[in-house]
Amino acid sequence: MLRIRNLSVVYEQNQGLFRRAYNTAVSEVDLDLNAGETVALVGESGSGKTTLGKAILHLVSPARGEILLEGEPIAESLGFRKRVQAVFQDPYSSISPYMQVRDIVAEPLVIHGISDHEQRVREALERVHLENDDAMLDKYPHALSGGQRQRVSIARSIVLEPEVIVADEPVSMVDAAHRADIIAVLREIQVSSGTSFLYITHDIASTRGFADRIAVMYAGSIVEEGSVDEVLGKPLHPYTKALLESVPDVDPANATRLRRAISGEPPSGISLPTGCAFHPRCPVAIKGTCDVERPQLRVPSDGHPVACVLHVGQKKGGSEH
Ligand code: SF4
Repeated sequence: MLRIRNLSVVYEQNQGLFRRAYNTAVSEVDLDLNAGETVALVGESGSGKTTLGKAILHLVSPARGEILLEGEPIAESLGFRKRVQAVFQDPYSSISPYMQVRDIVAEPLVIHGISDHEQRVREALERVHLENDDAMLDKYPHALSGGQRQRVSIARSIVLEPEVIVADEPVSMVDAAHRADIIAVLREIQVSSGTSFLYITHDIASTRGFADRIAVMYAGSIVEEGSVDEVLGKPLHPYTKALLESVPDVDPANATRLRRAISGEPPSGISLPTGCAFHPRCPVAIKGTCDVERPQLRVPSDGHPVACVLHVGQKKGGSEH
C-alpha cells in the first residue's frame, strides 16, 4: 500500500544574519504500511515521527527518498488527497469553531465535488458512535466535549472512505477516561473498512489492541521494528526498553508507584551525537564503540530488526553480516 524508501526530511533554520542551520528531522527511513494494517510510530517528542507523518500527507517535502502509494509517488498518485486522510492531535484547532458538525464532516465531500452529503455524514457520525440526528448535526464545536470533537474529526477523516489515515497523537488531548473508547473506534474502522493506519504516539502502551506492528523512532531514525508482541514482549533496543519502563503504572493497586523517566533529553537534529544517537543517554553504551559506530537496522537470528551494536545479524533488506 504505502512504501517509504530512504526518506530524509531536513528543515532549514535561520540562526541570525547570514547563518543557517540544517535540522535533520527524519533520516534515511524505510517503512511499509500494508493494506488494512496499523503501524504505530512511537517515540518521544522530537523523535521525527510527526515530521514523517507530515511527509506522508505531503505537508513537508523530503530532502531525499520517496513515498509510494500503490507504487506511485504520492505527489503524483491519482486522488491522493482523497485516498490519504489525517486525524490530528488537537480537535480544538483542527476543526473550525464557526462551522456546524454537519458542515465540518461534509467539508471533504464538498472540496472533492461530491454531492449527496447528508446520508454520508450521518453514516460517518454513526461509525464514530455519535448521535446522527439533527440535534448533533446542528451543533457547533463549543457545545461538544473534547472526546466528541475528536470523534467529529475522525468522522471527517473517514467520510471519503480513504485507504490510509495518518492519526497523529489522536488521543493525547482527550480526557483519559475516553481514550480507550476513541482507540476502539479507530480499531473498528480499521477492521470494518480495511483502512490502513499510521498511528503516531508517544505512548507505547497504547499500541496494544490497536496496532499490528510498531516502529520505534529516535533522533529521526527507526531503531526497532516488529510486531506488537515482539516489540512489547521482547524489546531489544535500550531506548525501547526505556520507553516501556517510563509508562505510568495503570494497575490501581500500584497507582502510587512511579515509573522511571528516561534520563537526559533527545538530541537536536542540528547536531546529532557521533555514533549511535542514543549513546549519551544509553545505560549500556560501550565507550569507544557506541560513540563511534552508527548502528544500522539489523535482524538478529532470533529476533526482529533493531539498530544497536549489541544485536548482530543480517542487515535489514540485505544479506550482509
Ligand atoms: Fe546503547 Fe550502544 Fe546500542 Fe546505542 S548502539 S543503543 S549506545 S548499546
